This record gives sequence, C-alpha cells and structure tokens, in this order.
Amino acid sequence: MSNTSSDPSILSHVVFRRLLLLAIVCFSVIWLIDYNSGIIASFDAFAYPICISSFSVVYLLATTKKVPDQYLHLTTYSVVAGYLIASSIWHHMATNGIFSNAAQWLGLNYVIAYLFLEVRKAILMTILAFSVTVIGHFVVLIQHYSIEDTLGVVMNIAVAHVVYIVLLWTVIQLRSSKDKAQQQVSMLEHYAYIDPLTRILNRRGLEKVTQELEPEFHLGQQDFAIFLLDIDHFKEVNDRYGHLKGDEVLTNIASLLSRKIHSKDIIGRWGGEEFIVYAVNQSRKEMFDYANLLRETVSKLVVGEISVTVSVGVGYSQQDKDLSEIFYLADQHLYAAKKAGRNTVVDHIIKDKESDNTEVDLAVS
Ligand code: GH3
Ligand code: MG
Ligand code: MG
Repeated sequence: MSNTSSDPSILSHVVFRRLLLLAIVCFSVIWLIDYNSGIIASFDAFAYPICISSFSVVYLLATTKKVPDQYLHLTTYSVVAGYLIASSIWHHMATNGIFSNAAQWLGLNYVIAYLFLEVRKAILMTILAFSVTVIGHFVVLIQHYSIEDTLGVVMNIAVAHVVYIVLLWTVIQLRSSKDKAQQQVSMLEHYAYIDPLTRILNRRGLEKVTQELEPEFHLGQQDFAIFLLDIDHFKEVNDRYGHLKGDEVLTNIASLLSRKIHSKDIIGRWGGEEFIVYAVNQSRKEMFDYANLLRETVSKLVVGEISVTVSVGVGYSQQDKDLSEIFYLADQHLYAAKKAGRNTVVDHIIKDKESDNTEVDLAVS
C-alpha cells in the first residue's frame, strides 16, 4: 500500500512514452523551423539536438523496462527544466538581448513537476528549479545592468513563479487527499477480504476473486478444480486444548497450505475450520494427486503436541460448466470423505442405484 512518500506518479508507462515521442517530435519540428528560417539562436543550435538525443535515449530505456519509470521521469524532467532555465538565462545575457523567448515557458517547469513527478520529488525539483531560475537570472543580469533593473526583472520572474507554485501546491494538496482516501479504501478492502486470524482470503475475498475469474472459467480457458478441506474432529482439539490452541492450529494450517499451493492457485478460509483451494491448469490426475499431497502435508504438521488431519472433497471443471455446481460437487465429495473415515480425498462417487449404496473412490491415505 502506498503512502505519500511513495506516492506513485500519475503518469502511466504508456502515456510517458507517448509524451516522450511528442517531446522528440516537437523539439525536432521547432529545430527544423528555426534552422530553415535562419533564426535559430546559437544556444538552441546545440541544445535542441542534446534534448532530442536525451529524450530518445530515455524512450529506448523506457521500452526495455529495465530502468524504473520514476528515474526516467526525473531524467526527462531534468532535461526539460534544465533546457528551459538555461535557455532563459542565456537569453538574458546582455550580449543575447534582454528579451527572452524562453522566459514565458519557465512556468512549465512547475506544471510538469507537479503533474508528473511523485509529490516529494515535485517539491524538491520545484525548489531547485525556482532557486536556479532566480539566482541564474540575477547573476547574468547584474553583470550588465543596475541593481534596480536587475531586481526589477528578477523580482518579476520570482513573483510570477511563486504564483505558479502556490496554485500548483493547492492542486497537489487535493491530489494527496484523494490519494489518502484511495489508500483508506484499499485498506478497508484489504480488511474486508482478508481473514484476520489466518491472514488468507476470507469468504468475501474468495467470492470477489472467483467472480473476477469466472469469465475465464466459463469460457473454458483453463481447467481447474475446487478442493474443500475440512479439519477432522476439530471440535475435540478445542475441547481438549482450548480455543486459543485451536486458533494456532488453524493459523499454522493456513500458512502451510499457502506455502504449499502453486503460485497461480488461490487459497481461502471458507468458514470455521474449512479451507478452499482453487487449483488451475493441471490434468485431473495431477489435481487429484495435488489435493492428496495437501492432505498429507497437513497430516504431518505438528503444532505443540497437536496434530490433525483434513478430509478433502474435490470438484473438477470438467464435471460441470457452472462454478457453483462444481463447488456443490466438492462439498458432496467432502461429505463422502468424512463418511468414509476422514483423512482422505474424494473426487467422485459411484452410486449403486439398486442397493442405494454409495461407493467412494478414496485417495491412498
Ligand atoms: P468433522 O471431522 O466432522 O469435521 O468434525 P469437527 O469437529 O471438525 O466438525 P464440527 O463441525 O462438529 O466442529 C467444527 C469446530 O470448529 C467447532 C468450532 O468450535 C471449531 N471452530 C470453527 N471456527 C473456529 C475458530 O476460528 N477457532 C477455533 N479455535 N475453532 C473454530
Ligand atoms: Mg466443518
Ligand atoms: Mg471439521
């Protein structure tokens, strides 16, 4: 979860690259126009190609995705701000005439910083850009103009820039209160979806995740299985060792299963002493063995002097198209596993219609 210090830039990777392309095109077009019309300032004659090359290098680095975007944002900002400030200072040198065609662009330094950089970096870059701008202009002007004239120009720049900064600071405040509200929403979401005891998804979290995955499941894009795991005789654990020890067992099982499941699979606490695992992209046989491995893993766990077993009911996506039907099958199979003696995995039931006997295929336990 981010806080203000790690407040992410609002600039996405794609938009950043587009803006870089825009900068390359704009600088190239202006360079061409200035060059062809013969009005190109000697400063720009070398500054334009430097800026264009820098943007191009940053663009290539952004494409490789090897350098974090935040460094590339900062580099790009430094090139733009550096160019604008240096250009304005250069134009204020007496030999180059006091009228600057760059000064009017200086406000962009603050706009770009506040729009695209992280809050802390934006503040730092604003202070830096403001100081360099004011001091730089003062130093070049004082060489050839009186202190009154110099201060007149520099104060003019400073006041205008302070107005920019105050207005943008107001925007940043709004942005950070919006970010805080978003953080709170994600924190509340986190608590709404995570079981506080075991720190895995709770029922609501599982429902959310499966809702998101359901279209994929429905389209049959991937085979999956639902494992329902229920701790055997857990009431006895509570009765014998107390509820706090029982809680410890639940927590240990949750973290053990979380470590054991495959990275793409989902685990959650369905309720009380029941867990659910969504296992994806394996054959039916692999998924059955996998469920059995989880069962075996739990049976080897010892918490203090307590060891427990789980019964597992499995439902496969090949058995039904509907997610709730697959869940229903897993539940039926869990019930059968309990009936068959517990500490076992059941994935299908063969019903003998005539005698109404139910034959259950068991995992080797
Ligand atoms: P079975 O093998 O048939 O599943 O037997 P069982 O005792 O596990 O099942 P039963 O449904 O009779 O009891 C479930 C127990 O799980 C009862 C309840 O106190 C305990 N339980 C449920 N949630 C928690 C919890 O958060 N902490 C603790 N310590 N116990 C819990
Ligand atoms: Mg139960
Ligand atoms: Mg139980």
